[in-house]
Amino acid sequence: MSQIISSEVEVTHMANGQAMTVPVYSIKGQGNGPSVYIQANMHGAEVQGNAVIYQLLEQLKQLDCYGDITLVPLANPIGSNQKSGEFTLGRFDPITGDNWNRGYHFNAQLPQQFAQQNPDLSMSDIVSQFRALIIADLEQQRFNNPYGVTTGRFLCAKLQRMAFEADIVLDLHTGPISSRHLYCPEYTKQSAVLFDIPHVLFIPRDFDGALDEACFCPWWQLQQAYSDQGRAIEVAVKAFTLELGSQEWLCLEEAKRDSHSILSYLSHHSVIKKGSFEPTAMTRYGCDLKDYRTVYANKSGLVEYLAPLGQQVKAGEPLVRTLRMDRYDQDDVVEVTPALENCIPVLHFASASVNQGTELYKLLTNYFTLSR
Ligand SMILES: [Zn+2]
Repeated sequence: MSQIISSEVEVTHMANGQAMTVPVYSIKGQGNGPSVYIQANMHGAEVQGNAVIYQLLEQLKQLDCYGDITLVPLANPIGSNQKSGEFTLGRFDPITGDNWNRGYHFNAQLPQQFAQQNPDLSMSDIVSQFRALIIADLEQQRFNNPYGVTTGRFLCAKLQRMAFEADIVLDLHTGPISSRHLYCPEYTKQSAVLFDIPHVLFIPRDFDGALDEACFCPWWQLQQAYSDQGRAIEVAVKAFTLELGSQEWLCLEEAKRDSHSILSYLSHHSVIKKGSFEPTAMTRYGCDLKDYRTVYANKSGLVEYLAPLGQQVKAGEPLVRTLRMDRYDQDDVVEVTPALENCIPVLHFASASVNQGTELYKLLTNYFTLSR
């Protein structure tokens, strides 16, 4: 049994002076298991992760937890309140246009500097001292920056400050209309089969501003810096982005299944009792990020999405059928866009009305089967 402690963390202030806060639920671990940070809803319309965190909490209450766990079900109160008509926008900061999930901080100089200054430190000292260093740098750059930072970067820093305490970080998202898929860093490829997520994108060491990268990049690059000095160390932090279905969609039953998937990962790492949850047997497919392809609309019009999500589509089979309003009574009024190669579509655009250049589908290509 574990006790849940709830609190509120201020993430920004509105013009009228009122604080905007996010609810935080935490569990103090009863042992020396890895610490965990899980957040959801950084993009305002992506709410299935909020339900997954609810289901996780319901189960964690009944379990013994050996590591500290911090859960933030609604990471971005600005994004989740960005409404237009019946839709939630909440993907981009309306003032700067920046993607809310690209404002995290990474200082690429620290890993190498630290490794050069501390060549012989024990692994446990590396973890505690390097963690203290990146936290101090984050606070300096984002909270104590004399020139200030954007609202989005300040919000991200508040979340990142909590995430930096953890050994395992999970950022829960959804696609627009989407099947489940996982972003897994290449250094921990074998972890992909611990989640009940059938499609996996393996991502390299580059930093592009997202939370998972902001959490693993410092540690992955630290490993590389030590390796360059001839010393092999582990990457101490593991971080993933889980895409759990479609935006503007919530299902508590499915959320319970997704919480089991996360519990099987946590159980594997002894955050809860080892072996208490196991991943479901399923065929899992992965591809490298460079082979994760976007199909953009060559022509504008109204689109019928034909390719089923999460299933294998052969080269030449149709992806979309486009109805062109300027071509009624012409032979090319309806055009079919076929798959250029064998692929697995994992998400498509949410609207049937598309401009030229709209992202229609995202596809796994050159995919392979993952084995346990
Ligand atoms: Zn998202």
